[in-house]
Amino acid sequence: MTNAFDSDTLAFYQGNAADYAAWSKHRHVRLNQFLERLPPGGSILELGCGAGADSAHMIAQGFAVRPTDGSPQMAAQAAQRLGRDVETLLFHQLDDVGLYDGVWANACLLHVPRDELGGVLARIWRALKPGGLFYASYKSGEGEGRDKLARYYNYPSEVWLRERYRDAGAWASLAIEANQDIGYDNQPTEILHVTAQRVA
Ligand code: SAM
Repeated sequence: MTNAFDSDTLAFYQGNAADYAAWSKHRHVRLNQFLERLPPGGSILELGCGAGADSAHMIAQGFAVRPTDGSPQMAAQAAQRLGRDVETLLFHQLDDVGLYDGVWANACLLHVPRDELGGVLARIWRALKPGGLFYASYKSGEGEGRDKLARYYNYPSEVWLRERYRDAGAWASLAIEANQDIGYDNQPTEILHVTAQRVA
């Protein structure tokens, strides 16, 4: 596959890592619902971890977390917060097979170019253990575009997302919930929260 990233979007995070870290507020309710479905102390890969707040919460709950981000500057912010190394990993570089009880990807796969998302989802499916759980969130819409901060978004509809997941691997369940939120760009937006469980 080709590189599943947008260079202007990564440049935004590289130039705004400290501001984004300060802005990040975290929705532990949804994260806790995810963690409750994992074995205690289970292995979790976090993709696009940003400033590391979600990884910090998961580590504090006793999980074996691998925090990663595609931007070296964001990874450095997270490393500072977590007091440990954080790998720079672009989504399309994920090569693990059957390693994780959970993959947590909050508000980051929404930056994957539309024609690359299926390939990234297939990599995540492959990285999960049988029965493993995968969460990701997206800004909903009907086609790709950029926000006023020049960040690329794939803006999926629920129907389009279900097709991408279905083609990426076999899931025992695939649940999508929608809610309204305000983004870092201060714009109201509908978020699609997708939780998928790999077949056992
Ligand atoms: N998950 C964090 C949170 O909830 O605060 C950060 C979300 S932030 C909106 C998106 C993150 O995805 C940024 O930290 C950015 O560096 C990362 N990112 C964007 N494209 C990426 C890619 N292709 N591979 C890995 N990380 C990427």
